[in-house]
Amino acid sequence: MAQDKKINLLDFTSDKLKAFFLDRGEKPFRATQIIKWIHQHGVSSFDDMTNVSKALRAELAEISEIKSLEIAIDDESTDGTRKWLLRLEDGNCIETVFIPEDGRGTLCVSSQVGCALDCTFCSTARQGFNRNLTVGEIIGQVWLAKNILQPDPETDRVISNVVMMGMGEPLLNYNNVIDAMTLMLDDNAYGLSKRRVTLSTSGVVPALDRLRDEIEVSLAISLHAPNNALRDQLVPVNRKYPIEKLLESCIKFMDGKAARERITIEYVMLHNVNDSDENARELAVLLKDVPVKVNLIPFNPFPETRYTRSSNNRIRRFADILIDAGLVVMTRKTRGEDIDAACGQLAGDINDKSRRDIHFARIESTTQ
Ligand code: SAH
Repeated sequence: MAQDKKINLLDFTSDKLKAFFLDRGEKPFRATQIIKWIHQHGVSSFDDMTNVSKALRAELAEISEIKSLEIAIDDESTDGTRKWLLRLEDGNCIETVFIPEDGRGTLCVSSQVGCALDCTFCSTARQGFNRNLTVGEIIGQVWLAKNILQPDPETDRVISNVVMMGMGEPLLNYNNVIDAMTLMLDDNAYGLSKRRVTLSTSGVVPALDRLRDEIEVSLAISLHAPNNALRDQLVPVNRKYPIEKLLESCIKFMDGKAARERITIEYVMLHNVNDSDENARELAVLLKDVPVKVNLIPFNPFPETRYTRSSNNRIRRFADILIDAGLVVMTRKTRGEDIDAACGQLAGDINDKSRRDIHFARIESTTQ
């Protein structure tokens, strides 16, 4: 049965497709042609690939396909944010969000079905973990969103930025995320600039140490607390990779990079949990030697959460303390709340909720 399954060409980077064609006795330039058809032109039928010989088209159609994801729900917020619930072949669902802004647009992409990390303020965590997404399922989100948005005459509906901030921990699906981001950066595919592709992580340090040598993208760190005692509670992976190890890895990551490039520190503002003046002062001291900008994220609630959002005044006061200490600070505008598309609200719909422990135990071995 397995050998009947067609190869999904969305799973291939340019280099891997070149190797695939070489194996089949074809010239490697075929790979470039096909990558362009798939990702630049958004075709899913070999018949549309007019500069490829009929014979090769027929051969490819026999053994392979270009298979993206099925749209289960397509929601649009009053602020223009769009959220898709996408059904995978195994019946699990993931979410992808498009956030339009003047002249640009950010696509928030998922990397796993569910998440193993159990951050206490995140709705994805409550779903448990099912599995890693394939390269085709990750880049398929970009492929699909581009195909849906591109025909829109409103030119600002274009994907200029991709953030790996959807469901899942991207560094725990390392190889597939790297391949998908390679396609995002590839001039023959999406051609996004390295400053506009951002990987967000809760801090899987060994994988972060590898990342720097393997691909150039922007980095966001989900810090959320100024000390280990508090971070242990909010982001449990901290017990394995505490703040000092994480920041050490961040400093290494930025070593030799231009001064204008900074790591984004994400800090969710939780009322009476991590939002006091004292917390802000402690955070300022912690970050004083790391090239960062701090992104304060108003907490987005979800059913049965124990947390509430800090008031706007509190967020402003917290920001002021950081700014006075010399840090660059932004407060994230909450988008798409009416359709549960805001940060941390992505829930998807997943089958198996029992695998978190197994996965968590394997974190170390999969990331070394
Ligand atoms: N696992 C990765 C990426 C997914 S989360 C990571 O941890 O970075 C993307 C961002 O949304 C993270 O900074 C996460 O901490 C934040 N987030 C999660 N739940 C949230 C919520 N309920 N409100 C606001 N931000 C949230």
